[in-house]
Amino acid sequence: MLTCKDFLNELSDYLDESIDAELRARLEQHITECPNCWVIADTTRRTIQIYKGMDPYPVPTDVESRLMKALEKRIAAKKRAPTSLP
Ligand SMILES: [Zn+2]
Repeated sequence: MLTCKDFLNELSDYLDESIDAELRARLEQHITECPNCWVIADTTRRTIQIYKGMDPYPVPTDVESRLMKALEKRIAAKKRAPTSLP
């Protein structure tokens, strides 16, 4: 039975697809039973895809939307400031 530590040790090879079929099957077995490692594998895989430029989604959507919200707040605050003064 594979432990989480074993899984993490093999993760980069697993994502590289440079491991043998038997070990791959054991790792896949582990992520079906371990949500934590599934999340780690999924996140790492996405990160690798982004670095390779294969990700169909723009990377910083979340960051960008948070930045835009912060900017909107600032702009709104600036707009509000003069009207709140007599
Ligand atoms: Zn695990």
